[in-house]
Parts: sequence; C-alpha cells; structure tokens
Amino acid sequence: MELRTRLLIGGEWVEGSDRFPTVNPATEEVIAEVEEAGTAEVDAAVRSAREAFEDPAWRDMDPHRRSKLLWRLADLVQENLEFIAETETRDNGKPAFESAKVDLPFVVANFRYFAGWADKLSGDVIPVSGPFLNYTLREPLGVIGAIVPWNFPLNIASWKLAPALACGNAVILKPAEETSLTALLLGELALEAGFPPGIVNVIPGRGPITGQAMVEHPGIDKIAFTGSTETGRIVMRSAAESLKKVSLELGGKSPNVVFADADLAAAARGVTTGIFYGKGEVCAAGSRLFVEASIKDEFMDVLVARAAGMTVGDPTHPKTRLGAIVSKAQHERVLSYIESGISEGAVLRAGGKPASVDGRGFFIEATVFDDVKPDMKIAREEIFGPVLATLAFSDLDDAIDQANETIYGLAAGVWTRDVGKAHRDGRRENAGTGWVNTYNRYEPGSPFGGWKQAGCGRDLGERAREEYTQTKSVWVALD
Ligand code: NAD
Repeated sequence: MELRTRLLIGGEWVEGSDRFPTVNPATEEVIAEVEEAGTAEVDAAVRSAREAFEDPAWRDMDPHRRSKLLWRLADLVQENLEFIAETETRDNGKPAFESAKVDLPFVVANFRYFAGWADKLSGDVIPVSGPFLNYTLREPLGVIGAIVPWNFPLNIASWKLAPALACGNAVILKPAEETSLTALLLGELALEAGFPPGIVNVIPGRGPITGQAMVEHPGIDKIAFTGSTETGRIVMRSAAESLKKVSLELGGKSPNVVFADADLAAAARGVTTGIFYGKGEVCAAGSRLFVEASIKDEFMDVLVARAAGMTVGDPTHPKTRLGAIVSKAQHERVLSYIESGISEGAVLRAGGKPASVDGRGFFIEATVFDDVKPDMKIAREEIFGPVLATLAFSDLDDAIDQANETIYGLAAGVWTRDVGKAHRDGRRENAGTGWVNTYNRYEPGSPFGGWKQAGCGRDLGERAREEYTQTKSVWVALD
C-alpha cells in the first residue's frame, strides 16, 4: 500500500477544495498534504452514498454476502497491518507497540465480530389481538456520517464503520484532521474487499469545515460522533436543525479507586497503564486516582517510581511505551494544565516537563500530582495527556462521593480484594464501564459509552445494532 491523500467519494479518489498538512508529532515533520472536503465535496459524498445505499446491489444484498465483505475487509487489514500500524504511529505519535499489537488487531477483530451480526439482524413477532400478524423488521438508517477523533484513529473509525455496514447502511467517514491517513487506507481496502462504490466514503477535513457541513447536511440520516464533550454539544445543537439522529461518545475524567485491602503491586501497575497508556490520550483514562488515606504514602512511593521509569521514546521503537503527544496544540494544552496544577498548589511527584527525542517532538514526561483538591482544574477537567491527579479518601462512601463528583461518567476502576466492596462500589459509580482489579479492557462484544456528559448511545457489542437500524412494525391481515 501507499499513502493516499485524496478524498474517496463514490469509489473515486478526488481532489478537495483545500489542503492541510498532517504532521509527525515525534519529528515535527510534515508527512503529507491531505485534501480537505468543503461543502461541495460533502454534498457529493452524500449524493454518492445515497445512490449506493438505494442501489439494489447493496439494498437487496444477501446478508451472508455482506457478512463476507466485512470478513474480507478484516483479512485485508490483517494482511496490511504492518504498513497501516506504521502509518498510525507516524501520524499520531503512539508507540509502535500500541498500533501494531493493540489498535490494529482490535480493528481486525471488530470487523470480524460485526461480520457475524450482518446475517443475524432479526426482528420480533408480537402477539396482537384479532386476526393479524404483527412483526418487526430492523432496517438500516441510510447514510451514516461518522466523525472520529485522533486518539485511536482507525480503531474508533472501525467502531462506527463495522456495525453501520453490517446493518446495511452507507457511510461517510471523516477522520480527525490530525490523523487522516489510516482512514484513507481503510477506504482503499473497503473498495478492494468489494463494497460497492459509494458505500464507504472517506472525506478528511477540519472539524468546523467538513465536520460541520456533514452535521448540517439534510441528506445524512445519522451522525455517529466520538470526540470532546465541547464538540459533542455543538454537534447535537447543529443536528437538531434537520433532526438527524446522533450518538455521542465524549470525554471523561474517570476515577481509579484503590482500597487499602487491594493487591497494591497490581493496583500500581493498573493505575500506571490506566493513565499513561496512549500517552493519556484515552477517553477512559484513569486520570483521577483516589487512594485510601491509610496506605497513600506507601502506594504513592511505588507509583511514583513506576511513573519515573516510563521514559518517553521514539514511537517507532518496539520497546517504547510513552510516545509523542499528538500535536503542538495538544502539547501546549497539556503543559498549561501542568502549570495550573502547580500554581493551584498540588504537589508534583513525577514528571511535569516537556521532553524530546533527538531534540525534537511534542513529548511530555509521565506526570503525577499528589494532594490534589477536588476544586482544582486538574481534578475537574479532561486533560487528555499523561497527567495523573491523586486525591485521598477515608472510606467507601467518601470514595464514591468523590469519584462521582464530575460531569462525566465514562469509566471507573476499583482495586480491592473484598468482592462485596468491589460490587458495592461498582453499583454506585456513575459510569458506562466499570473495571474491577483491571483497567482499560475492551472487546468488540462489550458495549462502550458514557453516562452524564460523557455521551449518549453505545459503541460495540450487540447494543450497536440499535444505533444503526430503525424498527419497522408490519401488520398483516390474516382474514
Ligand atoms: P474533537 O471534539 O476536537 O474532535 C473530534 C472530531 O470532531 C474530529 O474529527 C473533528 O474534526 C470533529 N469536529 C470538530 N469540530 C467540529 C464541528 N464543529 N462539527 C463537526 N465535527 C467537528 O476531539 P479530539 O480532540 O479529536 O479527541 C479527543 C476527545 O475525544 C476527548 O475529549 C476524548 O475523551 C474523546 N474521546 C471519546 C471516546 C469515547 O468513546 N467516549 C473515545 C475517544 C476519544
């Protein structure tokens, strides 16, 4: 494969109305100039998606065949995994280990999982009065606009594409402007797999230009969005005009709660990966650590030593575990949160400084703050970087009250050997995903999404079928 920089619309690679550079954050070099879809290209993508959706070649396609197409796409991603993973690492700055061993295998597994759903979208037969047969059908929505972020570029694209295609929709995918390259490669593989032209369109572009034009376009039936809570609000507001459906997977400030009776070595490992995996650019990052007061000093010593051992490195090196922050803007944003933590009086125990590899790149040290107070900015706002805020708690009730004191509700972790306590804590945490004695586990079959301002709707699992189908109730007179 080779890099693609043009828009994929209706099976053709076309020019956009503008271009923008995409930068390797580890070297600060421009990798490529990517074409941007303006309103005219968004409109062309919608027309081609609509035509392809209504074409009997897709609309009436035998579901077993749709399943095979998804499976074939998974095979093609697998065959090209090395090149796609390298591209993801160059574009995003994430370690090669994460791209090649975690993100891309998840993409493959996800297309396979949803290949399995394509021929199992059955409805119900409803018992009704009188001589009638009443049954329901699950029908596709039509044209899905998928707008995705830069932190797991291809992975999250697959969270939208796989179920949308399995359910028989056509898709227009807009990757984040920082990381467009792997989405374009996926578009190429979708064509090669045999999806009819126009069923998968990929149109890079900046959010307020391409994304906004998609959300406002009356020809798109649903926006499947993953990104920040702030942008989610704009998307929901703009979508109201054409009353299109939206699902929103948004930000988080997830708590990781460590009780005194936990396996502290395991908890220290889990807390470390919970915040530093993916450079902390993970929606469900365990960015607020709550430690039971009686063991806090002991636990923090272990944790700080682990954080100090997480040195930044060249993302292409297989041993690197802390890569480059995705962009200069995000680098500055994360550093400004570190400054605010210091100026508000939190105790900096590890990291806290920008870093570089061979004198270049937007790196930041693994950073741990202690003695954070609940009203500090670093305890309340999503930083989306390798910065951990630690607070103390006295007992279970105090832990839960503090953990739930947030506008978000994406995920929550708890570490304890007491099974009853784990479940009591889990039941009361306001979160779409709970992890007990583990953190950051995902599978294509397990639903993922947020409570409160972390979003609405669910990605993955059986639940995703409902996001990409609509129900039709059919009445048949039997007399
Ligand atoms: P972002 O909101 O800035 O951008 C997300 C996408 O929205 C991008 O493609 C962007 O171009 C587009 N966009 C921006 N403005 C737009 C507009 N006005 N109209 C339409 N589209 C627009 O988010 P980001 O910085 O790329 O990603 C980080 C955020 O994503 C974090 O808040 C993180 O928590 C969240 N996230 C959530 C999940 C989840 O599953 N809940 C997963 C990953 C990331």
